[in-house]
Amino acid sequence: MTPGRIDLHTHTAASDGTLEPLALFDLASETGLQVLSVTDHDSTAGFEAILCQRDRHPRIRLIPGVEMNADGEFSCHLLGYFVNVADKRFQARLLAFREMRNERCRAMVQRLEGLGYPIAFEKVVALANGGSIGRPHVADALIEAGVTSSRQEAFDRFLKKDGPAYVEGHGPGAAEIIRVIREAGGIPVLAHPSYYTSEDLLRRLVDAGLLGLEVFYPEHSRNLKARYLEMTRHYGLVATGGSDFHGPRTGRSGLGSVSVPDEVVFDLESARKRV
Ligand code: AMP
Ligand code: ZN
Ligand code: FE
Ligand code: FE
Repeated sequence: MTPGRIDLHTHTAASDGTLEPLALFDLASETGLQVLSVTDHDSTAGFEAILCQRDRHPRIRLIPGVEMNADGEFSCHLLGYFVNVADKRFQARLLAFREMRNERCRAMVQRLEGLGYPIAFEKVVALANGGSIGRPHVADALIEAGVTSSRQEAFDRFLKKDGPAYVEGHGPGAAEIIRVIREAGGIPVLAHPSYYTSEDLLRRLVDAGLLGLEVFYPEHSRNLKARYLEMTRHYGLVATGGSDFHGPRTGRSGLGSVSVPDEVVFDLESARKRV
């Protein structure tokens, strides 16, 4: 398999991506992807929609995935690969996490109102169009209200961590998310580690049952990748990778833009025995 043929980190309109699931699937085919994992925030609906239509592009291997926010002291994003999407308890947990997302975004909308930028929470809900709500939908409401001209500007001015409208999440911590992913048969992987910096975080997560680290990621320089690869060897983790594709005009539109080695898929398969 040539580099750029595997993308294990993508989002659809089932969360904060701008492409409908089947549009992502078609783009994956046009791009020449051979392995695709859809990792929507707290939802597997996008993956399931694609799975129902898998014959549309039978040569693309589909790997179930999810991305979940861990809050608290060790706040981070965790990816879960090979989660069993038919697991009712898992789906009930995702639903509860999506409800927490709603409340957090509602609080951010209130902050914005206090800052003199009233946008209706109902508008945010409408923009999410039934998908898992997140800050990018609050950003979309700000764009629609003419306050900002892009998601990026909305994050830079209001929504980024510690920004004036930012509200911390109060959901489950990293250890609990890792447990939830593993109880659903999934492989928990720390997403985009360069966002958090500390090796202490990684150690804690490994102690809690982490099995992988997202080594191949758009912002990771050659040096950083080498450092993360070394950590995967040290802690016995699978090195995974993906583009964090969110669709056109999101600032994250490079589907298949990251070179992910072939053995990653094999290593992920092997790690299923350790769950
Ligand atoms: P949430 O899960 O509601 O906290 O939103 C997280 C999502 O917001 C991420 O998956 C990205 O899509 C997006 N995001 C986070 N930080 C930024 C940023 N600084 N600029 C642009 N988008 C961001
Ligand atoms: Zn996102
Ligand atoms: Fe993330
Ligand atoms: Fe993501």
